[in-house]
Amino acid sequence: MPKFYTKVDQEKCIACGLCQIKAPQIYDYTEDGLAYNLIDQNTGQMPLPDALISEFKLAYTACPTNAILRKSEPFNASPS
Ligand code: SF4
Repeated sequence: MPKFYTKVDQEKCIACGLCQIKAPQIYDYTEDGLAYNLIDQNTGQMPLPDALISEFKLAYTACPTNAILRKSEPFNASPS
């Protein structure tokens, strides 16, 4: 199974809430309503557990602004 790393580009996030509905074990919100990856505090350093990949894909395709980023390797270590 390929690895997925994810983080939210909070510059693009419009706080619509869809990703947390689709993938509540992956995404949560800041006090401002912006989404972030709660698994690794939005650093994109931790691969998603295989069991969460299907819900990750639901959130990824639901995001209206393409704010959910994904890679097959860790993102650069800079929290956003
Ligand atoms: Fe932000 Fe996209 Fe999640 Fe909506 S679905 S809260 S725009 S990251």
